[in-house]
Amino acid sequence: MSITMDFLLIMISLMAAEFSLSESTTFKIFREKKDHGDARDSCSAKGMFLAKDTSAERHSELLALISREGLTSSDFWICGNRKCCKCVFEIDGEDLGGHQPWAPGQPNGGGGCLQLWSAENHQWDDDSCSAKKFYICESTDILTTTELPIDTTTPTVAVCELPKNLRNVAVGKTAKQSSVKSGKLGPDVGPEKAVDGNRDADAKKGKSCSWTKKEREPWWTVDLGKRFNIYEVVITNREDCCPFRLKNAEIRVGNSENFEDNPVCGSLIIGKMVKEKPIHVQCGCESPMKGRYVSVQIVDKKQMLTLCEVEVMAQ
Ligand code: CA
Repeated sequence: MSITMDFLLIMISLMAAEFSLSESTTFKIFREKKDHGDARDSCSAKGMFLAKDTSAERHSELLALISREGLTSSDFWICGNRKCCKCVFEIDGEDLGGHQPWAPGQPNGGGGCLQLWSAENHQWDDDSCSAKKFYICESTDILTTTELPIDTTTPTVAVCELPKNLRNVAVGKTAKQSSVKSGKLGPDVGPEKAVDGNRDADAKKGKSCSWTKKEREPWWTVDLGKRFNIYEVVITNREDCCPFRLKNAEIRVGNSENFEDNPVCGSLIIGKMVKEKPIHVQCGCESPMKGRYVSVQIVDKKQMLTLCEVEVMAQ
């Protein structure tokens, strides 16, 4: 990490973590559904742990994150289990303190694990540990400097300073997609068009965009040939028509040829992101995602997937 990055992180941490000057907590939502035990293991594998909702300040941070990511209708696993044989909960082996934002009527014996429940504004609910849900991990950096002034007027902005020596490792690699649009365009819209090194964003005239049929959750993948440290995926959406079709695109990076087994990179492509030229989705700054396969899939809807170029920025 560079000195500049250190400084920025310290500043951001101090601004964000009003509840503690010596601790910077970063919460991160993972949009892959797992049972409670697997969610805990997954956080651990990322060097994090399942988020602990142990104070009003943390609860507010969690709710703000869920709202920012547009996921207010999703449930999330957080750290917290029922003690053996009692309807009493604990968080990571510690008894709960005064902060217990249970939803009305909860806990009601619904299960042994703690979720943030969308039906009740993400207050707590006890649910079956085997249910599969999104989950929230946290990491805590203990800062050594606490003497910096706190500027409460500056908005909190996530800063990600990518290494300078990244290169696109996807160009010319083997790509696949769930289907190929039929009709006379067919020969010109195969999966390889998204890695042909050409960002031409006119999907019809440019003849350089991949294009699937309209179908439920269409997908596109590329095999990079070997593992890379992947920092960012840069997508050129089509500009001649219909950029909205790329909404709900989810990017995954990992070593499984079955892309659904791989973890998600960054957040879903939503809202005005579809009009960015190009769209940058970051997978990590200090800890890039490692993987051989990168996928793009439109989730939760029936749509065509058109990708004029997918650049995988890696070391
Ligand atoms: Ca292209």
